[in-house]
Amino acid sequence: VNRYYIATDYGCKAMCDTLFHHCQAATLVPGLGAYGHVQDAAVAVTAGRISWVGAAAQLPGDLRRAARQTLNLGGAWLVPGLIDCHSHLVFAGSRALEFEQRAAGASYAQIALAGGGILRTVAATRDASEQALLATATVPARALCSEGVTTLEIKSGYGLDLETECRQLQVAKALEVPLGVHIERTYLGAHSLPPEYRERRNDYVEMICARVIPRIATERLATAVDVFCETIGFTLAETERVFSAARGAGLAVKVHAEQLSNLGASALAARFGALSADHLEYIDQSGIDAMAAAGTVAVLLPLPFYYLREKQLPPVPALRAARVPMAVASDFNPGTAPIASLRMAMNMACVHFGLTAEEALSGATSVAARALGLQADRGQIAVGQRADLCVWPVDHPRDIVASVGVPVPSAVFVDGSPRRES
Ligand SMILES: [Zn+2]
Repeated sequence: VNRYYIATDYGCKAMCDTLFHHCQAATLVPGLGAYGHVQDAAVAVTAGRISWVGAAAQLPGDLRRAARQTLNLGGAWLVPGLIDCHSHLVFAGSRALEFEQRAAGASYAQIALAGGGILRTVAATRDASEQALLATATVPARALCSEGVTTLEIKSGYGLDLETECRQLQVAKALEVPLGVHIERTYLGAHSLPPEYRERRNDYVEMICARVIPRIATERLATAVDVFCETIGFTLAETERVFSAARGAGLAVKVHAEQLSNLGASALAARFGALSADHLEYIDQSGIDAMAAAGTVAVLLPLPFYYLREKQLPPVPALRAARVPMAVASDFNPGTAPIASLRMAMNMACVHFGLTAEEALSGATSVAARALGLQADRGQIAVGQRADLCVWPVDHPRDIVASVGVPVPSAVFVDGSPRRES
């Protein structure tokens, strides 16, 4: 325990920009007990990062005296900012018509054949300007951030052609300033086969690998590449080609895996050292074992499960037994989860999937950071981590998971400063 009660050495003199005190800290640091709870805590922030955390009684006197700003939290809980590690937030158009059609009995396949589904969103997104995409994306992004999200992953995948995919990723980055949060970007060209390649699957995968991925890497438009590996998406062999190109370009990989059937995408992802395999309703034991061995994060997505009235539950007890880290994300998207609430996903992960409240909270903080490859940088209240923090006026952090809509964080800090929207 004491190993993390270490003041960072910023030279011969203690330095502290902000000192939080009179608070309970849910550090989410493993090995510190439930929620990584530190009672009567003090947390020091220096240059946007946590420089000291521990029991206030043990706070070094020189650090207390050096604090330029002291914030008394009146007994509230200090919790890492929430991290939504899987969203498709930038797109144009509405798919609410399909919601009505499904309610009236139409199947997903019938809707797709009638020109609906992902390709409906692709057509609208290709026609939309950068400003229009930004204006549309800002609305759900603000809703997510109002719940305490301080890092948001956004995937492309509704342009499919080079130009629109790049535009989507640029819009994702442009959300960072008005929202005052961190954005992580993922290229998802292998989301659906675009209509102009209907008879040329091989050429489309070649275009992704030979043209788009090198450009994404060179222009730093994304840090990771994702594939929708599914009977209605891309095959295992195509997924492997995309992964090879991504790794060759120095990009991380992740995958939409075993959502509607078991193709073995999670084991393939593990073999490529993927950050995460997401959905996983149909994963089998060999996939679980491969993910456990590789340290690949399982990202659970209860909102599309609910929205599509799926019946097959992800095997949470087996994932837990194998010690596969489990994250929870919104999967916000126009077709299967137009629900801009990570809190709802956390709550449903408990109600539908059987996660504990602590698993849901760590799944949206420390484990979500790991799903983005950022576990050394954020997701916990620990020395050296980014000071992305939420103040919650609750009796216990389980309250954050047990209800939706309320309570809301009373303050949100990003890099140690109050989050500013513009
Ligand atoms: Zn998704």
